[in-house]
Amino acid sequence: MTLKLVLGGTFDPVHVGHVNSACALMGLFSDCQVVLVPSKIPPHRDTPSASPEQRLKMLQLASEEVLGLSCDDCELRREGSSFTIDTLAGYRAEAGDQPLIFAMGLDAWVTLPTWHNWESLCDVAHLLIMERPGGSSFEEPAQLKAWAAEKLVDDVSSLETTGSGLICHVTLQQFDVSATRVRETIKQGDSTENMLHPEVAGYIARHQLYLDNESHGK
Ligand code: ATP
Repeated sequence: MTLKLVLGGTFDPVHVGHVNSACALMGLFSDCQVVLVPSKIPPHRDTPSASPEQRLKMLQLASEEVLGLSCDDCELRREGSSFTIDTLAGYRAEAGDQPLIFAMGLDAWVTLPTWHNWESLCDVAHLLIMERPGGSSFEEPAQLKAWAAEKLVDDVSSLETTGSGLICHVTLQQFDVSATRVRETIKQGDSTENMLHPEVAGYIARHQLYLDNESHGK
C-alpha cells in the first residue's frame, strides 16, 4: 500500500524549498505520496498574507505537475480552530494500520510543544524532521528532547515497518529559501527567480500579492 506523507505549513506562498523537499522525501521510500496541507493563519499575523483560497490555488499550481504530490484543504474547510492532530487522526482513520508520516522542518520541530495536543502526534503518525539551513540556530526545548528520546530512530526505512510512533531526523539537499524571504523579495521589487515555480510567480504577479502591508486576501 502507498505510504502517505503529510507536509503541513502556511505555504504563504509555496516555494521551491517545499516542493523540492517533498520530492526528496518521496525518494526516501519505495511507494510514497506526499500531501501538502495548508493551515489556517491566525488573523493577527502582521505580514502581508494571501487568503486561504490564494494559498491553496498556489499549492495546486505548484503540485499539479509533480507525480505523487497533491494538496488537501481539509484544515481550511474545518470549522473553528484547525489542528495538525485532527488532520492526522483523519488520515489515520483512512490508513488503517499502514504507516503515516508527518514531515516538518527543524524550525517547526522546535516549536512543537506549543502545538495543540502535541504529545499525541506520535500516537497517530511518525514524525520526520528535515534539517534547514541555519539549523544550529534552532534550539530544541528540553521537554521536546526528553519526549522524543525513546522514539528516535536513525534509519528512515524503520518508518515503513510500523504505523506510527517513531521520530527520525533526515538531512536532505538544502534549499535555502523561505516564504518570509519570498515575501520580502517581492516587497522590495526584486526577482524571485529560482525561489518560486513560474506558475506560482505568475499567479502572485497577477493578483499583486505580498506588495505591501495591506492584506490582499481577506
Ligand atoms: P515562513 O518563512 O513564512 O515561516 P516557510 O518557508 O518556513 O515559511 P512554511 O509554510 O512555514 O514555510 O513551511 C511548511 C513546512 O515546510 C515547515 O515544516 C517548514 O519547516 C518546511 N520548510 C519550509 N521551507 C523549507 C525548505 N527550504 N527546506 C526544508 N523544509 C522547509
